[in-house]
Amino acid sequence: MLAAVRTIPVCLVGGVTSLAAAEGAIREGFAFVQMARALIREPGLVNRIRNRLSNGDSGDGNFAVDTESPCIHCNECVVRMRFATSIVLAATLTDTS
Ligand code: SF4
Repeated sequence: MLAAVRTIPVCLVGGVTSLAAAEGAIREGFAFVQMARALIREPGLVNRIRNRLSNGDSGDGNFAVDTESPCIHCNECVVRMRFATSIVLAATLTDTS
């Protein structure tokens, strides 16, 4: 559906935290997949997935878990970033020097 109407490469943004989700997006026609919270939770996630892929699916039943971020989408990190930004802005606005 997406591939039929798009004329420029489109990146899926938001909520992708696993290899399965990324592959699904590519199958649906997205050219790119962006990850944010998944990489905040685990900066080495892509390397972990790459290593797991190089070892293949051994059939041990852990492939999906091994290629997924432990991020639970709680948004605590987003709240903390906004709070920290507010502190910096408030300090800047009240700076009388
Ligand atoms: S704080 Fe929550 S949303 Fe943010 S990276 Fe951690 S688990 Fe994911």
